[in-house]
Amino acid sequence: MSPARQSHSPRPAEVSGRGCCNTKMPQLAPHRARKRFGQNFLVEPAFVQRIVDYIDPGPDERLLEIGPGLGALTGALLKRVKRLDVIEIDRDLAARLAQDYPREQLTVHLGDALEYDFAALGTDLRVVGNLPYNISSPLLFRLSERAASIRDIHVMLQREVVDRMTAAAGSRAYGRLTVMLGYRFAVERLFRVPPGAFRPQPKVESAFARLRPHDPLPCPATDEAVFRRIVAAAFAQRRKTLRNALAGLAGEAQMRSLGIDPRARGETLSVAHYVALANAIAATR
Ligand code: SAM
Repeated sequence: MSPARQSHSPRPAEVSGRGCCNTKMPQLAPHRARKRFGQNFLVEPAFVQRIVDYIDPGPDERLLEIGPGLGALTGALLKRVKRLDVIEIDRDLAARLAQDYPREQLTVHLGDALEYDFAALGTDLRVVGNLPYNISSPLLFRLSERAASIRDIHVMLQREVVDRMTAAAGSRAYGRLTVMLGYRFAVERLFRVPPGAFRPQPKVESAFARLRPHDPLPCPATDEAVFRRIVAAAFAQRRKTLRNALAGLAGEAQMRSLGIDPRARGETLSVAHYVALANAIAATR
């Protein structure tokens, strides 16, 4: 058995599993955590159990785990589901997992989750992961683009990222991530996890969160590209007023007609305000 490829192509290579439960495999050397892949492995069984209890997977559900690592969650999930897909960027870890479980149970995709085509696994997908902190925001944006094929997402993130995802309008943590994820998902903070639950220990606290795609969207944007552009511009320089931040995109009169004060800052507007502004702009094009 060998990982199919070292390079990480847009369609990740599948690493085949052992296939026969009795096959004797060579002893694997201990894994040295790779910082560049954000490897902080969950080692506290109580937290693993708590995570699985929140996910509460049914035996026939379609689950994808992002970054299975040494398999702490993978093993616990496989006690509850008949089969599981995982995507792992580290070829050594992908190879270990493929050795540890028969391929009827576990499909290991070797590759970068940022390039993974989540829709390829069908609809009603449940996404799970103790995410590498260095890619968490781009990965959440990517998952948000695929929300139509996702039932829910359960993720461990840096606590500060969960603070931003669940922040109230007007607070310091409220920003582009809050608005873009709040547009697409209902976001819930579930519980905090201390650094001591991981090896090696991260310097920061973590939190476990759930995202469920809104169905239907409570405030749909008629042109999501315009909505994305407005939100990005409003938060590009947080200290700017909306009048300055959105100069060239939205006029003061347009803002006022929607009940938006052009002297306010981006962090004071709700998702509904941003959508209303984006829809007004889209209507004039
Ligand atoms: N799930 C394991 C656990 O809870 O112990 C490992 C979590 S560790 C924080 C993050 C995992 O994601 C590592 O196994 C790492 O190799 C993997 N990873 C990092 N970047 C990735 C990427 N872009 N795509 C897929 N996996 C990635």
